[in-house]
Amino acid sequence: MTELSASGQGQADARTAELAQRLAAVRSRIASAAVDAGRGGRLPALIVVTKFHPAEDIRRLASLGIRDVGENRDQEAAAKALELADLALTWHFVGQLQTKKAKSVARYASAVHSVDRPQLVDALAKAVRNEREASGRAPLDCFIQVSLEDQKHDGGAHRGGAAPAEVPALAERIAGSEGLNLAGVMAVAPLGAPPEPAFEKLAGISAGLVAAFPAATAISAGMSQDLEAAIKFGATHLRIGSDILGSRPAVG
Ligand SMILES: *Cc1c(COP(=O)(O)O)cnc(C)c1O
Repeated sequence: MTELSASGQGQADARTAELAQRLAAVRSRIASAAVDAGRGGRLPALIVVTKFHPAEDIRRLASLGIRDVGENRDQEAAAKALELADLALTWHFVGQLQTKKAKSVARYASAVHSVDRPQLVDALAKAVRNEREASGRAPLDCFIQVSLEDQKHDGGAHRGGAAPAEVPALAERIAGSEGLNLAGVMAVAPLGAPPEPAFEKLAGISAGLVAAFPAATAISAGMSQDLEAAIKFGATHLRIGSDILGSRPAVG
């Protein structure tokens, strides 16, 4: 209803109108799923994953009220964060992360959703400590990415993440690192399998984590194709890309 006026650009450009329409459709799916899940008015946070889309689209999304954006490649994210430094955005890093990129990510990211090994915890802790001294940045929210692949049927399509058995030790390590905040768990549903059993498993892993770390209640789950299933099993953070931005353009 406010698509055009919210753009703030008078004669709104066609892309802003398209994004507003897609965003409204996704928000309505989220609201219905929350009702179906009996969650009442408690909606999960919406992170719009903008990878491969230009910084100008993020500016349009910001004009539509979006604050949380997700990226999965450091080089691209760092460039966009610099270009959009005038906007009050919260950057979520959601992709596989090499330890050597930790320093760069600590400059712009508020959260990393893909923490999956001890070396990465240590690299992020060091980078955040340095960045806190240099710029006084806030603590970094860390989500432990858990692999939900059925080991027997993996077929090599590994999508990243720690094995469930590795979660307690990773949690201890994050919680014991100054500058890192243990937020909770994150997962990507396995390819070619129904998402419900995977997200149900993630909810169980989350419950185990919360028993030991009561504040680590976040569950980052749900993408364009499976947000309803994720909400059903308690997702607190959705990571939605293509249903809001359209199919990803070829990398130029
Ligand atoms: C790209 C990506 C998303 C968004 O996926 P869509 O299917 O485009 O909604 C979410 N999470 C991660 C980790 C991603 O890499």
